[in-house]
Amino acid sequence: MEFEFTFETAGPTLGDQRKFRQFRYRHMARKHSKHGSHDDLHREGEATPAAAVPCWLCSRPTGKTIVWHHPVPKSRGGRDVVPMHPICQKTLIANFTNSELQRYGMDVDGLLANPPVRKFVDWVANKDPDFTATMTKKRR
Ligand SMILES: [Zn+2]
Repeated sequence: MEFEFTFETAGPTLGDQRKFRQFRYRHMARKHSKHGSHDDLHREGEATPAAAVPCWLCSRPTGKTIVWHHPVPKSRGGRDVVPMHPICQKTLIANFTNSELQRYGMDVDGLLANPPVRKFVDWVANKDPDFTATMTKKRR
C-alpha cells in the first residue's frame, strides 16, 4: 500500500515537471526568436512597405528608393518635398525646366495635363514600384 502510494504521487509529479520543463523551454525558445534582435530588424524592414507613401506624380506606392522631390526647385526657394519614384522625378526633370516646375509648384494635376507626363504615368502604372529601367542611364 505504502509503495503504491509513493509511486502514484511521485510518478505524475516527475512527469509533470518534465512536461513543464519542456513547455517552458519551447515557450522560451519561441519568445526568444520572436523578440530576437534579428527578427526585430526584419520586422522593421517589413513595416516600411506597409507604410509606403504614394508617389506624388503617378500615385503608385513608392518602392525601396523614395526620392524626396522639391516641386518647386530648391534653387527657386522651394521648401516642400513630396515622395516620388526616382523614375518619376527623372521624367519631370526631363520634361520641364526649373522655371516651369516652379510655375506648376504643387499643382501635380497641371503637370499631369502635359501629354508626355500623362503618357509616362499611364505607361508606368503597371510597373513594379522599384522599376527604374531605361530611364536610369548613368552618364557619369
Ligand atoms: Zn511614381
